[in-house]
Amino acid sequence: MDSKVASLINQQINKEFYSAYLYLDFANYYASVGLDGFENWYKIQAQEERDHAMLFYQYLQNNGQKVTFEAIDKPDKEFSDNMDPLKAGLEHEKYVTSLINEIYAAAFDVKDFRTMQLLDWFVKEQGEEEKNASDMVTKMELFGSDAKGLYMLNSELGARVYSAPSLTL
Ligand code: MG
Repeated sequence: MDSKVASLINQQINKEFYSAYLYLDFANYYASVGLDGFENWYKIQAQEERDHAMLFYQYLQNNGQKVTFEAIDKPDKEFSDNMDPLKAGLEHEKYVTSLINEIYAAAFDVKDFRTMQLLDWFVKEQGEEEKNASDMVTKMELFGSDAKGLYMLNSELGARVYSAPSLTL
């Protein structure tokens, strides 16, 4: 495997674990204000991010590449209201999309079709992640300022259940 492609994927393992850590921090915030549905949604999101990290890790292993783990950054955002994590989540997913695109571009440059095929799944996944994050902001704008609306939104998010990623290596 091209060393730049392998290095970017190795970095992405760290970024995905950071995403899991960030979303656990969101869950932690929502737990502190009693919104257990939001807490549930972000705990499951954290599980998905860990899955992403494990997929990249296994992909490097399957292709004989050395994996190096670096320190995971501390989630350092302060939240002043229930909207803050949602907006931070949308910004974060846009950033992750840019990272996936960067790896794709590097794989494209060296005609690494196998990695491009792996990344096709992540490109689609990022489209879904951005839509989910954007929908959460919209719903909070629409319903979040009303106590009954917030209660129902919290119930909706509380119904989310974990399912393993559709991608297998
Ligand atoms: Mg991810």
